[in-house]
Amino acid sequence: MDRSALPSVDRLLNTAALRRAQERHGRARVTDAVRAHLARLRADVDGAAPSELDVLASAIESALEAAARPSLRKVINLTGTVLHTNLGRAVLPQAAILALTAAAASPCNVEFDLDRGERGERDAHAEDLVRALTGAQAALVVNNNAAAVLLMLNTIAQRREVVVSRGELVEIGGQFRIPDIMARAGCRLREVGTTNRTHAHDYRDAITVRTGLLLKVHTSNYEVRGFTSSVNVEDVARIAHAHDRTMAVDLGSGTLLDMREWGLPYEPTVRATLDAGADLVTFSGDKLLGGPQCGIVAGRADLVERMRRNPLKRALRVDKLTLAALAEVLRLHLDPERLSQTLPTLRMLARTREQIAPVARRLADALAARLAPPYVVDVVECRSQIGSGALPVDVLPSVAVRIVSTASRRQRDRDVTRLHVLLRGLDVPILGRIEGHALLLDCRCLEDVDDALAALEGFTRAIP
Ligand SMILES: *Cc1c(COP(=O)(O)O)cnc(C)c1O
Repeated sequence: MDRSALPSVDRLLNTAALRRAQERHGRARVTDAVRAHLARLRADVDGAAPSELDVLASAIESALEAAARPSLRKVINLTGTVLHTNLGRAVLPQAAILALTAAAASPCNVEFDLDRGERGERDAHAEDLVRALTGAQAALVVNNNAAAVLLMLNTIAQRREVVVSRGELVEIGGQFRIPDIMARAGCRLREVGTTNRTHAHDYRDAITVRTGLLLKVHTSNYEVRGFTSSVNVEDVARIAHAHDRTMAVDLGSGTLLDMREWGLPYEPTVRATLDAGADLVTFSGDKLLGGPQCGIVAGRADLVERMRRNPLKRALRVDKLTLAALAEVLRLHLDPERLSQTLPTLRMLARTREQIAPVARRLADALAARLAPPYVVDVVECRSQIGSGALPVDVLPSVAVRIVSTASRRQRDRDVTRLHVLLRGLDVPILGRIEGHALLLDCRCLEDVDDALAALEGFTRAIP
């Protein structure tokens, strides 16, 4: 390429586009971007003739805008999975957002006892609420439920054996496998029973002087059907206590309330699990609880106290933002009558087909107006999932916008995938799911249709 044909850095910096860019991104970054762009053009020996000054400037401005866009962005979740781990699980209630924003903006008494004027306990901001809601003697909070399980195992059963049913050696997405966590916690796994059947005597026979803990893991993301048998919490706890051992349950989802109240399938509550005799229960803050990412351990005061003193607790503790949000989410649970309004997770889970259908119809109209043949848009009934491993076999009746292509067999799946890619490329990406030969946009989590309509604003240009 003819080097002399390229404009100088100064001339580019003086264009309207790049002066605007300097206002936004600062002179240094824009100058760097201009130099890098010119260097690329010079290196591109077979490149086309150099563009005009303004075209060049606006290309550099676009590149700067793209680079300045945050990596973590809002998306519209029309996948049909309410608690989608890859999409950040629970959406926080307004009260929690306000509380965490306030905690972020100023110093706060996260570890300071204002009554006594001395160092306080970080978890105190949530502990009384957990106790009130579960009947537990004590509770602590760590970074997530995996951390809660790790801390519990390491504190209670390091260098000792942990008895677990073979049918409960679960893997939760994202590398959380009970046997691996157990090894890292310094415990030895003592599997009992078979994949499909475990009996009370299996637990009893496994207890030796080396036994530190009997653990039950809620098999939240799968179900063993057919010729099966497992021992309930009450019986495992009784066996553990008869041998002077500790019994713990990893509940996973951990709901504080009976979800049947809202027409949802039953999940064991933390209170019911403690009442059944578990000494400790671990559960997530951002699954059915509908709060920030964290893990909660609730149970016997002496055991929780030992966990608090474990140096690992310091490495796994939560920050003030999490605590502020968690406390508000727990407070909302004290008023269960209004919870299906105040807690977004429950609000979305409890939405009926009748409530979702009008939203789906409006979204379908907007899409139909923007899509030309071979695309065909209609509204169909579908089923959404709770997600995050909760209640895998139960699916919620929902309504979706369905988009198919009437092109040839060979082409139709490509059309549908292409459309999904385009929706994902929007400034506010819209994420659906491909089912069969169709793109489904499940409207269960779309509470405000205007949100999606606004995201579709720039869409006409994106269509071939
Ligand atoms: C989800 C889950 C975990 C992991 O919880 P995180 O909060 O994702 O760390 C552990 N155990 C069970 C049974 C689960 O369902």
